[in-house]
Amino acid sequence: MKFLIWLLIGYIVFRIVRGKKELPSPEATKGEETFRDPVCGVYVTADDAVVGTLEGERIHFCSHECLEKFRENLEHKA
Ligand SMILES: [Zn+2]
Repeated sequence: MKFLIWLLIGYIVFRIVRGKKELPSPEATKGEETFRDPVCGVYVTADDAVVGTLEGERIHFCSHECLEKFRENLEHKA
C-alpha cells in the first residue's frame, strides 16, 4: 500500500511541475507586440494580424472577416 501512496504523490508532483511548464512564461511573450481587434476584441500579434488603415492609422484585425465588418460599420456611420 505504501508504494501506491508514493506513486500517487509522485504523480501529483509530476502534474504540478508539468502544469507550471505549460503556463506561458512572461519571457516567451515579452517583446512580441499585441494589438486589440476593435471588432471582436481578440488580441493578435503583428505576425497574425490582418492590417487595415484608417486615416493613416494602422488597425490590426484577427481576420479578414473582422476587417470587412469594420469597413461596413464605417460605411453605415458615414
Ligand atoms: Zn476579430
